[in-house]
Amino acid sequence: MPNKVTAICPGTFDPVTVGHLDIIRRGACKFQKVVVGLIEHPTRKNTMFTIEERIVFLRDALADQPNVEVDHFNELVVDFARKWNASVILKGLRAISDFDYEFAMAQLNRKMAPEIETVFLMASPEHSFLSSSGVKEIVAFGGPVEDLVPPAVAQRLAEMYPRR
Ligand code: ADP
Repeated sequence: MPNKVTAICPGTFDPVTVGHLDIIRRGACKFQKVVVGLIEHPTRKNTMFTIEERIVFLRDALADQPNVEVDHFNELVVDFARKWNASVILKGLRAISDFDYEFAMAQLNRKMAPEIETVFLMASPEHSFLSSSGVKEIVAFGGPVEDLVPPAVAQRLAEMYPRR
């Protein structure tokens, strides 16, 4: 592996998309270990999937990545990072809309934990407009999401929202 750095990759992953997986896989090529951290109870939103379901989807989709672990947390991101001895918070950055929020979060986290650096990977162009909430809106109206999420998630969504 290229270095001895552990990175955490926090998010809600409700559900995981191919955009998330792209960032995690690219991160796994650059860091010794990537720990995907699922936020159990996000303050901003209710989740469609339980924490158990979200974990299974991620573990299943990342089973081929030996240096990726999946964990969950209900504390400050910096405390979760410290628990794993991680010195990097890995995040994906999509279109400009992500910037304000992510910039503020990175500053707040840096104030609480100056030893931890937030590292952003630019979203791949084909995933730049992909979000979990977009996926949920499409399936709710009977649209196709097979190209946007891993197969197990697509299957579960198809059971929940049969195509018209
Ligand atoms: P979402 O915004 O889709 O609900 P999360 O809250 O789970 O996703 O986000 C976790 C991290 O993944 C954030 O850093 C977010 O910017 C990043 N991310 C989400 N979707 C994509 C994508 N399509 N491409 C790159 N990064 C993404």
